[in-house]
Amino acid sequence: MALINSMLTRTKVAYLSMEIAIRPEMHTYSGGLGILAGDTARSAADLQLPVVFVTLVMRQGYLKQTLDATGWQDDAPDPWDPTDWATPLDAMVAVRIEGRVVWIRPWLHVLQSPLGGRIPVVLLDTNIDQNDPADRTITDTLYGGDTTYRLKQEIVLGIGGMRILEALGFAISVYHLNEGHAALLGLPLIARLQRNNRNGQQSFDLERVRERCVFTTHTPVEAGHDKFDYGLVSHLFGDSIDIDQLRELAGHDGLNMTKLAMNVSGYVNGVARRHAETTKRMFPGYEISAVTNGVHVPTWTHPSFARLFQSVTTHWGHEPELLVNADQQLRDEHVWGAHMQAKGELIELVRERTGVEFDPEVATIGFARRMTGYKRPSLLFQDLERLVAINKEQPFQLVMAGKAHPRDNTGKETIRDIHARIASLKAEVRMAFLPGYDMAMAKTLVPGVDIWLNTPLPPLEASGTSGMKAALNGVLNLSTLDGWWEEGYLEGATGWSIGDPAHGDSHADALYGLLEKTVLPLYYDDRPKWIWMMKQSISKIAPYFNTQRMMRRYATEAYFR
Ligand SMILES: *Cc1c(COP(=O)(O)O)cnc(C)c1O
Repeated sequence: MALINSMLTRTKVAYLSMEIAIRPEMHTYSGGLGILAGDTARSAADLQLPVVFVTLVMRQGYLKQTLDATGWQDDAPDPWDPTDWATPLDAMVAVRIEGRVVWIRPWLHVLQSPLGGRIPVVLLDTNIDQNDPADRTITDTLYGGDTTYRLKQEIVLGIGGMRILEALGFAISVYHLNEGHAALLGLPLIARLQRNNRNGQQSFDLERVRERCVFTTHTPVEAGHDKFDYGLVSHLFGDSIDIDQLRELAGHDGLNMTKLAMNVSGYVNGVARRHAETTKRMFPGYEISAVTNGVHVPTWTHPSFARLFQSVTTHWGHEPELLVNADQQLRDEHVWGAHMQAKGELIELVRERTGVEFDPEVATIGFARRMTGYKRPSLLFQDLERLVAINKEQPFQLVMAGKAHPRDNTGKETIRDIHARIASLKAEVRMAFLPGYDMAMAKTLVPGVDIWLNTPLPPLEASGTSGMKAALNGVLNLSTLDGWWEEGYLEGATGWSIGDPAHGDSHADALYGLLEKTVLPLYYDDRPKWIWMMKQSISKIAPYFNTQRMMRRYATEAYFR
């Protein structure tokens, strides 16, 4: 409680996110957005920034992935017990949904960064006796249920989140909305800052609201934005909100959470330079900044590389900028040794999970992320004959992982197709799909491969962060030019770009060509140059693409502007 009291008095900023990857045992995240929020919290803790993090408790998690014999993903709940990792706090607030009072209770988790910094995370829970059974499940499942369920969650996160912070005694001056999910907090904030004008009428002062909100958007396509029908909005809120006012702020043809967030926020940013440009085109007239994402370096550096970094500079975790000289300071045999240790651990994991025997001498390609269409997980399988032919000349092995959203049948079919192709090529190419991708698996999988493959269809990847985790472990990126990679790639130094295909060609052709002519020959025929690239990757990418730099920018440009 002493800790909470000290946090209460100094905390000025609240960061609200539908998902936060705090630790693998807490099933409060699904993918990149949650990992980013978790790395944000870890860096805020390291930098002792006065921030409190708010999310939903998600007792049933996101999705426990298992595959049946045909490679079809079985969706099961992935429960966790908040009493194992959090403390219930003595406060309750209510929101009104469908005319019922819905009580919300907070749990506190004190997140600890690997460097020792601590920061509060508040987990909102509606599973309490006072609530109607229907409302007790609102904070159960991440990205589960239908549109109604989602809007209820967003009411709890945005409006409930703001009320809980007040009930706990936080005096928040800035709310950071990580994606649009929490944007409804703009409504009580408007009400709070409403002014009585001379004839006793109330008028709202949007500028005062905008001083208090920061919005980070993550979606480069219109279809990716949460949209709710005003009929549904009225049904859930009753007459407790001013729908006309909401239409002004959130769009006339539906409640667009991105639009609402844009209108209530005085600082709006995209998560890479290219993504900020895309967002400007989607929302002309708004000022959009670019704060490129990062990763929390101490969290994502494999222990074997952490020891190496420690031997040349003791403060690399807190100031990853110091790794700028790693290319000069690290010795080739040490870099290769650290890499082979990480690779050995991945080979062990692959054997344990799938029974497939990988060879430590063979070039290993990794691909793991949400299995969703625009990321094109099956691009490498487009031409099986070519794949087999490449492997005959210069062998490679491939490890893949990733979950499809339970309602994304295309994503599930992709996993099934990949499963079938892996099986059909069993005699020729060593390949494995590891079910149950999560942050624990990522810590072994990403540093353990030689080549990190990333194939989003531009401009659909707002940033991407897994390639940054790869780079700081000396894993070379092979990626289409999208998101952060446009800023991170130096051709032939930090990795390779799968460039815009020439007329009649495809990204798959470009990918095969690079593997065949550039990447695999370098791996087998010029190891010193390969290790030089590993060191370029560490020293050019880790110093910039990290959340310490990212949070220093949010602090100076957005929170305390
Ligand atoms: C880093 C990470 C991601 C994000 O991967 P992208 O390639 O950036 O989409 C997703 N899931 C997990 C478990 C991760 O660790």
